[in-house]
Amino acid sequence: MSVLAMKFGGTSVGSTNAINQLSAIVAQQQSEWKNIVVVVSAMSGVTDVLIQSAHIAAAGDLAKAKEAADTLRTRHITTLSELAGSDPKLDATTAAVNALLDEFELLAQSVRVLGEASPRALDAIASIGERMSVHLVSAALRAHGVKSIALNAAEVVLTSAEFGNGVPLYPQTRDNIRQRILPLFAEGIVPVVTGFIGATSKGAVTTLGRGGSDYSGAIFGEALDAAMVDIYTDVDGVMTTDPRLVATAQVLDRLSYAEMSELAYFGAKVLHPKTIRPCIERGIPIRIRNTFNPSHTGTLVTSVAEATTHAIRAVTVIRNMNLMTVEGRGMIGVQGVAARTFGAVAQAGANVLMISQASSEQSICFVIPNASSSTAIAALEDSLRHEIDRGDIDRIKSRDNVVIVTAVGVGIHERPGVAARVFGALAHAGVNILVIAQGSSECSISMVVAASDGDVAVKALHELALS
Ligand code: ADP
Ligand code: ASP
Ligand code: MG
Repeated sequence: MSVLAMKFGGTSVGSTNAINQLSAIVAQQQSEWKNIVVVVSAMSGVTDVLIQSAHIAAAGDLAKAKEAADTLRTRHITTLSELAGSDPKLDATTAAVNALLDEFELLAQSVRVLGEASPRALDAIASIGERMSVHLVSAALRAHGVKSIALNAAEVVLTSAEFGNGVPLYPQTRDNIRQRILPLFAEGIVPVVTGFIGATSKGAVTTLGRGGSDYSGAIFGEALDAAMVDIYTDVDGVMTTDPRLVATAQVLDRLSYAEMSELAYFGAKVLHPKTIRPCIERGIPIRIRNTFNPSHTGTLVTSVAEATTHAIRAVTVIRNMNLMTVEGRGMIGVQGVAARTFGAVAQAGANVLMISQASSEQSICFVIPNASSSTAIAALEDSLRHEIDRGDIDRIKSRDNVVIVTAVGVGIHERPGVAARVFGALAHAGVNILVIAQGSSECSISMVVAASDGDVAVKALHELALS
């Protein structure tokens, strides 16, 4: 039994035209693969609108949420009727979409009354986008002659109760998915499943983190022992850098899981970083392909690293970062400073993206998102109070407006001179490197630079991916 898991992103389900393209691709693939599971995102921009409306409602303005609901209603219902005017299930599907928007309005009202959008409420609201889009896509498939039903992943993907960042729980999730979907395959039905969402054991809806539909694609692919996970998006594949940043970016035919992990972790939005692990575990290849250019073979991601003559394979950037430094001559030999530093940062809920420590132990520096910096500083001052008072720690420095630029490629650590070329390219472009981290992974070097140098740094490094 061969299974293909296909995930379509926001732009791929963002309009009537896009969903028609998607339907043609699925119908064509079904003639090759008997069993297909389709995982979809919300229509482009919808998740943002839902989350913004929740925050605005929490601040007291319910009218904006009502306006958003009206706009979303028009967009979804119009698209649905354009896609599936003749579907016998059209009335039921239209009613389902309308009910979801009613639910959104009710949730916005509750948030308004409470004056607070809790992480749990935000997840319930954010989930509405995918819960609507599955109905549109499933109806469109039926209109294209593909037997299909819409499925809410909250029924099968069991997660921890970390709202906004739910962690799928195994083996329950795998068992649930198999129980629910294998009988559908037996009937030749293509389930269209909501990406991005799951539910706790108590039935509360959770999300897997922004951009998490890719991860859902891998979760379903893994659970169903898929032979391939296809990620359909709006570019031809994974490119040497973000094509919105550098117009000469090229599609990469092949990448190793390790290279893809580094690219995704360090900011290549084209794939959510969590997507890769479930696929590595079962050796499932991932293909990144373009819904709007289906004849392009895209990028194939497997365990094999491709030999390359280029110095590096790709470049990424993560913006809006803060470089924090804890320093003091008295830190030498003081036990547990690093543990307490990172404990405090974790307690503040800040995600540490990069760490570097001077060998003299006089300073520890790390990079966290700008948005977490003030809570992190407060937590650090609290946790290290004793050392600060004693003068062992001189200061906690925070520098906002930095970015992390990362060069990725297996050659970086294997071929002599590549690292020198990376630093040389930045020096030549006049970019001052604030911190370097390399070696922690097999195939990347990350550098922190001032935000104002970010674009220049990416362009300079990108030359090494082409030459
Ligand atoms: P989807 O909605 O399909 O999940 P995303 O917007 O999340 O799509 O991701 C696709 C986008 O990622 C592309 O349009 C592109 O601008 C951006 N991107 C960033 N880095 C890269 C890269 N290295 N290769 C390809 N696309 C990239
Ligand atoms: N719709 C969700 C988001 O915008 C998930 C996704 O698109 O992958 O974050
Ligand atoms: Mg995405």
